[in-house]
Amino acid sequence: MIREGSLEEISDGKLYGINDMVRADTNQCSGCKSVCCHGMGKTIILDPYDIYQLTTQLSVTFEQLLEGKIELNVVNGLILPNLSMQNSTNACAFLNAEKRCEIHKARPGICRLFPLGRYWEDEKTFHYILQTGQCNKDNLTKIKVKKWLDMPELEQYHRFVVLWHIFIVRLREALVDLNDDNRHVLTMYLIRTFYATPYAKDDFYGQFEARLSQAVTTLAMEEITYA
Ligand code: SF4
Ligand code: SF4
Repeated sequence: MIREGSLEEISDGKLYGINDMVRADTNQCSGCKSVCCHGMGKTIILDPYDIYQLTTQLSVTFEQLLEGKIELNVVNGLILPNLSMQNSTNACAFLNAEKRCEIHKARPGICRLFPLGRYWEDEKTFHYILQTGQCNKDNLTKIKVKKWLDMPELEQYHRFVVLWHIFIVRLREALVDLNDDNRHVLTMYLIRTFYATPYAKDDFYGQFEARLSQAVTTLAMEEITYA
């Protein structure tokens, strides 16, 4: 979820690194009826890693996910996928009857982070923040940030998050100078290249960087580097 406001307004005002302790542990969300999986509108935006996880772990295609689980919407000029909320319940399509996430292992990055979020200092640098006023529980306990993230290959994931962020920021800057037709072509290229084209199960990061490199060449963009 992208939130507007100053650091103090949206968080406890502190910036956290992966080795810091933070009061984010929901203790398996016991006693909560998954408040944060309801009424999220279009805000749980999905990145290519999320789609890789969903398609490979659920053995479905991007197009099949679009049949009720996810949807496409315009976010600051770019068309991006987000989790769908169901009309009847206003709940995420992956929330089961017991009010538990049925894709816990493959849940998107935004869900994995919550109630943490990312605070971008510039296009390459982010810190973790503890969002306030979002989680329904008021007795969260302390946990190390990297333990809360529970991500395999955290360094590679971090690198992916940064490269993707730079790419999206630059695309948004490029959109300003394009007419409507060319904007449409660009956004469709983005969806096709990074979301709709299936990922093989092994080595997501290698596949992503190959696609990024190809896109940078195709779109005649300035080289995108991590360091
Ligand atoms: S609101 Fe907090 S406690 Fe409830 S499901 Fe979401 S993260 Fe868990
Ligand atoms: S994917 Fe899971 S954790 Fe995320 S909003 Fe849906 S049900 Fe909740």
